[in-house]
Amino acid sequence: MSLFYEGLFFIAGTIAGSFLNVCIYRIPRGKSILSPSSHCPACGYKIRPIDNIPLLSYILLKGKCRSCKKKISLRYPLVELITGLLWVQLYNHFGLTFQLIPGLFFVTLLVVLAAIDYDTNLIPNKIMLPAIAISFVFTVLYVLKIKSVPIIANAGVGWSVAGFFIGGGLLYLIAIIASAVFRKDAMGGGDIKLAAFAGLYLGGYILLALFIGFFLGAIVGIILIAKDKSKSMSKTMPFGPFIAAGSIITLFFGLQLWSKYLALAGLS
Ligand SMILES: [Zn+2]
Repeated sequence: MSLFYEGLFFIAGTIAGSFLNVCIYRIPRGKSILSPSSHCPACGYKIRPIDNIPLLSYILLKGKCRSCKKKISLRYPLVELITGLLWVQLYNHFGLTFQLIPGLFFVTLLVVLAAIDYDTNLIPNKIMLPAIAISFVFTVLYVLKIKSVPIIANAGVGWSVAGFFIGGGLLYLIAIIASAVFRKDAMGGGDIKLAAFAGLYLGGYILLALFIGFFLGAIVGIILIAKDKSKSMSKTMPFGPFIAAGSIITLFFGLQLWSKYLALAGLS
């Protein structure tokens, strides 16, 4: 049955990804995500349901609008594919348990927030604040003895709330230091809220997630600077995608990574 469920979660994930594409495009522009229905951003052609099947339509249309033949951004099938694969991984990681629900919520939100931050250098409060509120509902469910958070280690509600303050607090501290030392804002309020949000799910492992995020960010930063010095030096790199990537890696592999680290350090 597992292959059946994997297929089901992949299809559901690509459908969710298709909706995320709508959110990623419209929310930063202050547009409604419900109406009007999807249309080509170039020619306004109303996209028919047959042309709106996740992944498949992009392949059938060869990546071009049916009406004006303008190229459709590769971003659309990419978000659908990534969300589909992440949903399969979530199913494999948690199985059909209650924890799968906060897991799906957490990871899906990370995808949409990372993409919006990548596009606009902003993490909208319109998504971030309700997401944090819903996450606290999961915490309340935990208090009511329905195990759900923090979803990584199942270690209790105190660990989850600690993760919230550790994640948010650490980035807040970095923001204060950075603005004092460099006299410019290196870390936005959105990053602070995103780290606090991830901390609710990861508990103390949020530190590992942020470490991975900084590490990946440094690698990408060095590559960008090496490729084109003037352009990337003047423009600040959004940090949200790296917090999201670090959090997803930590969710799935954090416990193994941590025990490997302890073994390497001779602590276990
Ligand atoms: Zn078009």
